[in-house]
Amino acid sequence: MKIGFIGVGNMGGPMCRNIIKNSGHDVIVFDLDKEAIARCTELGATAGASPKAIAAEVDVVMTSLPHPRNVEEVVLGKDGIAEGIRPGSIYCDLSTNSPILIRKLAAHLEKQGVTMLDAPVSGGVVMADKGKIAIMVGGDKATFDKLVPLFESYGENVVYCGDIGNGCVAKISNNLIAFCNMAASAEGLMLGVSAGIDLEVLNQVIRNSSGNSMTFRAVAKNAKSGDWTPSFSIDLAYKDMHLALELADELGVPLMLSPTVHNLMRMAKGLGYEQDDATAIMRVYEDTMNKVLKIDS
Ligand code: NAD
Repeated sequence: MKIGFIGVGNMGGPMCRNIIKNSGHDVIVFDLDKEAIARCTELGATAGASPKAIAAEVDVVMTSLPHPRNVEEVVLGKDGIAEGIRPGSIYCDLSTNSPILIRKLAAHLEKQGVTMLDAPVSGGVVMADKGKIAIMVGGDKATFDKLVPLFESYGENVVYCGDIGNGCVAKISNNLIAFCNMAASAEGLMLGVSAGIDLEVLNQVIRNSSGNSMTFRAVAKNAKSGDWTPSFSIDLAYKDMHLALELADELGVPLMLSPTVHNLMRMAKGLGYEQDDATAIMRVYEDTMNKVLKIDS
């Protein structure tokens, strides 16, 4: 098959490179960032001229883009996928996206004879690099079955979630849990250190106790180093919490913790940390308490 991959940033980049290395398919890439494209063409991909041009050439088009508005533009905008895509081909969005937008795009493309899947991912850049990212997929089951080998070329734990949009519902639910956990981790660490416990001692206790989680470990690690270089930015985490609140509004489901965490992210953005890693939610507590947790090495 020929695969088109649009958006080869922190997540799309390693996923695309694993497809190139592991799947045996020809891959054509597009991104606004030329250096990101080069990191894929070095491994054998070719560079496409536009989403439209790529869609006209391939069997499967994939996108991994930051915000729903970026996906909408790349699919429905000028020189977008919808202008070029051929009947019978498949479009698969790997972004953490709005299920409402996913269903709108799927309905639009269906009229052109195109099947869409939503297949967001979880595990971060480290797991994406290793080809071990979790993949949750919504949409037509036969199309899912056909693409499983492609999914397995860049991920593990591929789960079929049902109707189109359900991959994103699963992903948004997961991230709601992860970010509430992240905020609780920052709060607990600040409380313990303010009460006089050494950060590394507290870290050792919690990582072997019931407060342990993937997000706890990430907050503690970055608090110790004071390095907030993003592998997943506050900007994107804020978008994900917004998507959870939007879905809950639509369904009338009460969310008690999520609005608080969303507001903490607003505070982080207001303090100028929007492009820092999502764990920089810790910095809201550091700034409030005028206490930096970083351990000088
Ligand atoms: P990123 O900003 O690192 O990469 C996005 C890429 O898209 C960039 O290279 C950018 O140049 C490109 N891009 C933006 N608009 C474009 C356009 N109009 N046309 C072509 N290219 C365009 O973001 P990321 O961290 O890779 O996230 C991508 C998606 O994956 C997001 O939806 C995010 O929520 C999701 N996600 C990220 C992580 C993570 O740990 N970073 C984990 C799981 C899911």
